[in-house]
Amino acid sequence: MARSGYAALIQEGAAVQKHDLLTDFTHITPTAHIATSLHGWRAKCLQRLVRLDLPVPQTVALSAPTVRAIASGQMVDCRAILQVFGAAALVSVRPSPENPDWGGPATILNVGFNSARHRLMVHTHGQAAADMLFLRFVQSYAIHVARLDPDMFEGLDPGAEGLREALRAYQQEMDEPFPEDPAQQLADVLRSMSRAWEGTTARLLRQAKGAPAEAALGLVVQQMAQGLGQGISGSGVIQFINPVTGDRQVKGRYLGQSQGRDALTQGGAIYLTRDKRGPSLEDLAPDLFAELVRQGEVCRQRLREEMQIEFTIEDGQLAVLDAVKVQRSSRAGLKIAVALARDGIISTADAVLRVEPRALSELLHPQVDPQGPRDVFTRGIAASPGAATGRIVFSSQAAQASAARGEPCILVRRETAPEDIRGMHSASGVLTERGGMTSHAAVIGRGLGLPCIVGASDLRLDSKDRKLTARDGRVFREGDIITIDGTTGEALVGAAEMLPPAQDEAFRQLLTWADELRDIGIRANADTPADAQTARDFGAAGIGLCRTEHMFFEEDRLVVMREMIFADTPKDRAAALERLLPIQRKDFGQLFEIMHGLPVCIRLFDPPLHEFLPHTREGLRDLAEALARPLSEVTRRAEALAEFNPMLGMRGVRLGVVLPEIYDMQARAIFEATVETVRKGAPVVPEIMIPLVSARREVELVKTRIDAVAAAVRTKTGVSFDYRLGVMVETPRAALRAGEIAQHAAFLSFGTNDLTQMTYGLSRDDAGRFMNTYVQEGVFPEDPFHILDVEGVGELLLMGAERGRRTRSDLTVSICGEHGGNPESIAFCRRAGFDYVSCSPYRVPQARLAAAHLALTEPLVQKAVEN
Ligand code: PEP
Ligand code: MG
Repeated sequence: MARSGYAALIQEGAAVQKHDLLTDFTHITPTAHIATSLHGWRAKCLQRLVRLDLPVPQTVALSAPTVRAIASGQMVDCRAILQVFGAAALVSVRPSPENPDWGGPATILNVGFNSARHRLMVHTHGQAAADMLFLRFVQSYAIHVARLDPDMFEGLDPGAEGLREALRAYQQEMDEPFPEDPAQQLADVLRSMSRAWEGTTARLLRQAKGAPAEAALGLVVQQMAQGLGQGISGSGVIQFINPVTGDRQVKGRYLGQSQGRDALTQGGAIYLTRDKRGPSLEDLAPDLFAELVRQGEVCRQRLREEMQIEFTIEDGQLAVLDAVKVQRSSRAGLKIAVALARDGIISTADAVLRVEPRALSELLHPQVDPQGPRDVFTRGIAASPGAATGRIVFSSQAAQASAARGEPCILVRRETAPEDIRGMHSASGVLTERGGMTSHAAVIGRGLGLPCIVGASDLRLDSKDRKLTARDGRVFREGDIITIDGTTGEALVGAAEMLPPAQDEAFRQLLTWADELRDIGIRANADTPADAQTARDFGAAGIGLCRTEHMFFEEDRLVVMREMIFADTPKDRAAALERLLPIQRKDFGQLFEIMHGLPVCIRLFDPPLHEFLPHTREGLRDLAEALARPLSEVTRRAEALAEFNPMLGMRGVRLGVVLPEIYDMQARAIFEATVETVRKGAPVVPEIMIPLVSARREVELVKTRIDAVAAAVRTKTGVSFDYRLGVMVETPRAALRAGEIAQHAAFLSFGTNDLTQMTYGLSRDDAGRFMNTYVQEGVFPEDPFHILDVEGVGELLLMGAERGRRTRSDLTVSICGEHGGNPESIAFCRRAGFDYVSCSPYRVPQARLAAAHLALTEPLVQKAVEN
């Protein structure tokens, strides 16, 4: 075993002469120069406690450069440090990194314990206490400092025999007796802690928690306040907040005749507050308890944080050893921030900054309890957050039947298609074998707030035999219970333990503060009245994208839609559209009503028509029956509509140009709904958006007809209204030609799902198959359907916005692809001067908070904002 103890260093006289002992350490007093960046958060926090006049034992801080020097072979003057504490003091050494989340080596207590100290303690505290304390020190020294095998030092008899055994084992392993010199002990402890910090595992662990590669460690050496003595003596931990709910509540434990965090780990600890279940510190020592509560309040007020305080009582004397930020759930974190701001302890801006935007999604959906057991049988892309448990179903019909029986179900499909929409509405969660972040299941799942995993490509799905085989061979059948964790992308066997959602009053308050701060608008993508209501409830400033085709998948409309598709003549088509008109008018009227004067941007029909046709023989037969046509004809027509590459085929504005009656009907429905709403006294300015544009002429053609429909509706109803016509930029050519396209558009909205697909030439529905490998191999830094590719697609956004605005300075520019809800994309769009982002309703709260963070941390030149 390599030994590098203080004694060894002294023997290496040359080394000591070369590197004189360092004298850079600082006694923590109210006025000493202690900085978080130099000495770490714990040293700074202890200085604050000292300044608050709390009974903190004497403490010395070692700066990060000193600790680094120790790790590389130098040593600090340990005798000089020990002199600060007076003769025969015992000390503890604790890590003090710049950020408490970065962890650090284990605290070592009772440094300085030796035979002489042991003898003394036998007199003052009795044999048992002296043996116990010495043994514990030898154990932690052997394991953490000398790095001996823990097996030899654990499970020993806690009395004299165990102590002898431990000292013997130490000597045997180290070829020298246990060190008696306190300065040597301290030096070895400092060295081992410094080096532990430099180790690869520790570095990777802290980097995973966000620490920079060069993160440094400070150390604090503190006089031990023993929780052992004749009078009331012991140690404990107290906090004033429930770490899960954030409610105010005294929590913690106290254990007589103990030290460190024994009260939390050993039996016999008592409650802090009076409690029917057993004795408490409040009963035992009411004055000390009251003093602790007072100190807790001082900490909250002055440290501006909910702290957990580690304390000892030695013969009735209270000492505060340490205070750390209370570990907390996302829900508690939000509640704590709001309460601190309401109590005037922090500003509302600080409260907003203290809550991570991504943490909000945990509050909107039930979550799998991270403490509970997890039996994962597959992993895929975490496409829509939240968790749900239910019985497996393999078809939309089975999902609907399950919902009708009141049984939650998880819809498992190879991939979903528009005809699965009703099944998705009925399911509690969705799991698909294929697909990526913007595949149908993912987009609809997020829209509905439905937990969803896509691209679980190691599953083998046999929908005919209705079974699912996991990679490890486990087979699941229809009716088996599973849990979908859409937050992590893991599917679990059985019903996992869950935490409920928490959109409480504090949640709403924080977002109201965020809205006062942010400077980019947040709208929602909402297709149905239910979506629109969710969008409003979550504080969206309007609807940025209403995908009207989703309205046609309801059973009653689908038949009419199919009739329209199968119409032989323009007259027949017009008749079918005439039947769709009132349905659409009602849809739009409901949206206008729910949104109550907020802008509603309606995208005209986008998908290829054949998506509305059945894909199975059985479905075709049903359709033939419904249309009263021969099966052969229906099949032939359906086949004729099929395309080799439908996403690049007859869809979007191309349909609008080739079959203009569809857009005419939609425009009429929008304008008539506008008139009805205006007549009810509510203001509406509808926005109409043309999808998949690639040329100016497409916009001209559609605009001419829509203007004509508007004029006709105005004339017929005698009601005047305005509308705004805009273009969805989702082909690279539309971005490049945005200058001329903007001649006819009041707004441009970037559809980054298709734009990403077309910029990369990468199918958004198939990307899941290789995306993991691509990201792992570093081909893409991230899934570009998930995180906006700012270099490529982003350049098209910048170019399109700039060219469009050069034509029309008042052009409204926005993004409505799924990226719209990501904090990174919001930052990009905000810097590019976009007016708003639009995202799934359930992502609106996160987007509002992220936008406020950006406004606080990245000031921009002031601009007018749609709110
Ligand atoms: C897009 O392409 O970015 C978009 C929002 O439209 P959809 O997802 O409906 O194709
Ligand atoms: Mg699109």
